[in-house]
Amino acid sequence: MPYKVCLSYGHGSNTFKEARSKGVIVNGVAYEEHTHNAIVGEKTKKVIEAHGIQTLVVQPPFGRDVPLQTRTNKANSWGANLYYSIHSNAAGSSTRGYTAFYWSTSAVGKKAAEIYAKYAKQAGFPLYHNGVYPSVRGTWNDFHELRETRMVALLTENGFMTNKDDFPLIFLNKDHSHDREAEVHAKTILEYFNIRYDPNKANKFIPALAPKPVVVTPKPVVTPKPVVTTPEVKKGMNLADWQFEELEAAFKFAREKGIFTSDRWEKQSKDKSLTNDQAVYAAITLWYRTHKEGK
Ligand SMILES: [Zn+2]
Repeated sequence: MPYKVCLSYGHGSNTFKEARSKGVIVNGVAYEEHTHNAIVGEKTKKVIEAHGIQTLVVQPPFGRDVPLQTRTNKANSWGANLYYSIHSNAAGSSTRGYTAFYWSTSAVGKKAAEIYAKYAKQAGFPLYHNGVYPSVRGTWNDFHELRETRMVALLTENGFMTNKDDFPLIFLNKDHSHDREAEVHAKTILEYFNIRYDPNKANKFIPALAPKPVVVTPKPVVTPKPVVTTPEVKKGMNLADWQFEELEAAFKFAREKGIFTSDRWEKQSKDKSLTNDQAVYAAITLWYRTHKEGK
């Protein structure tokens, strides 16, 4: 059974026009919160679906505002495993940052909020209230979506529209902020279900964050080091002592007969350093000179 996630894109396309709230006007241009919520939410939806998660969107993107009661009723009757709501905040101009609200009595909800805070921070977004905020009954943050849902629920407030530094992240897609934010939501939801985030599955939907192709640098050509050969130490012949003595006597005899003029063969036979090559050479030379000169 795939995990079921209910996605709620905060407010609707009519909210700001009718209520003059949930949006800001900058240089005469209206920026509606729902636009941000829908853009980022739709990216998030595709990424988590690519990871095998089943979704139910209780607020159609860019559609008319669906009442909160309708949204939570749908999530409850569908049997969602997680309810995930996407918003942006408004306050005084100096307040900024990203945070996730969870129902204050839900330990699991708090854990989910902490996952969100971790990824928001990792993505370079500033955090408000450490990125984790309990929603408490009877207070200003007694949020319907957290109170009336039967499953673990998060209400994310992604930046403050009223802050000049958060504004371009929310509305102007500064530095691919929409892709980065969608990735935060997707990673949060996936980690909540212990599903490994696969960038390759996300690539199609958040291309700005696609991993760069791995550049395979050719291996440097290794020039083999010249093999240093130490000159072979010539070893003497493997002969018994009496055999060396006989050779010595033979070479001595040849020298005395004037066939060899040097005593080197005798000496090498005596100290047993005479090699095969030398013995062969000496024997052939001895034979040749004996026959040639009739000695
Ligand atoms: Zn909102």
